[in-house]
Amino acid sequence: MSAIIKLQNVTFDYPSGDVKQIRALESLSLTIEEGEYIALIGPNGSGKSTLARHLNAILLPTAGEVRVDGFLTTREEHRWEIRRRVGMVFQNPDNQIVATTVEEDVAFGLENLGVETPVIARRVAEALEMVGLQSLRNHAPHLLSGGQKQRLAIAGVIAMRPRCLVLDEPTAMLDPRGRREVLETVMKMNRQEGITVVHITHFMEEILEADRVIVMDRGKIVHQGTPAEIFSGELDLYSLGLEVPIIPKLIQMLRSGGLNIPAGVLNVDELVNFLC
Ligand code: ADP
Ligand code: MG
Repeated sequence: MSAIIKLQNVTFDYPSGDVKQIRALESLSLTIEEGEYIALIGPNGSGKSTLARHLNAILLPTAGEVRVDGFLTTREEHRWEIRRRVGMVFQNPDNQIVATTVEEDVAFGLENLGVETPVIARRVAEALEMVGLQSLRNHAPHLLSGGQKQRLAIAGVIAMRPRCLVLDEPTAMLDPRGRREVLETVMKMNRQEGITVVHITHFMEEILEADRVIVMDRGKIVHQGTPAEIFSGELDLYSLGLEVPIIPKLIQMLRSGGLNIPAGVLNVDELVNFLC
């Protein structure tokens, strides 16, 4: 494996009105491997969004450095290369709509890059196909459901052919169905297209499929591991304001009741398989 993003001792202070600044990241180091699916969790205010914004040079470290595919985010002349490699999707689907049809919305970013028209048409069709919105290509984006809007936002980013997709609570404003649609789309981008994913979420059941879970608190990484390790029962997630989803919790309880459930059993299917 090779690293696509590398943060070294990144500290970030937000300027504030008074003399004292707000430290949002504290000497944080992290290496993200190409093709990895990372879930990033932590209580409100722990620095998740601030970290996400460092991954494509929206924010620049106060100290330390961030490299994307070797390019330093602080170098002005690297910024274009960095933004081409790392695409962002945010929480509010309505803020990300820029055009009056689904198709034009996906084309917008490519037009801005000066991509030739026939290439744009092809890439837009591909991206809509990948997120399952091709049949809605002539629809007005504001009439889509929340889940469809977020899939549209993902298509807009995917059309630019990024190597890494950073999603900052993309499902926070969606209903359960929209959440599932978006999660499945993100999984597909990672598993089928090989795109590196950094997925910030406060829904603990959304992290079960990640390769690696990173837990932040007060600007630092306080834990990391596989979902099975994070939900093994050894970490006190509750004191971080996080909860263990029902199935891993049930598995923990069955284990402490004496049932010898193998490590790695984490979801309903695996549990049923084991029990039956
Ligand atoms: P999270 O995404 O985990 O909720 P954030 O990265 O948004 O955390 O925030 C980390 C810390 O930085 C918090 O203390 C927050 O209040 C502060 N913060 C975030 N954005 C700003 C801003 N624009 N100006 C000042 N402080 C900010
Ligand atoms: Mg946030």
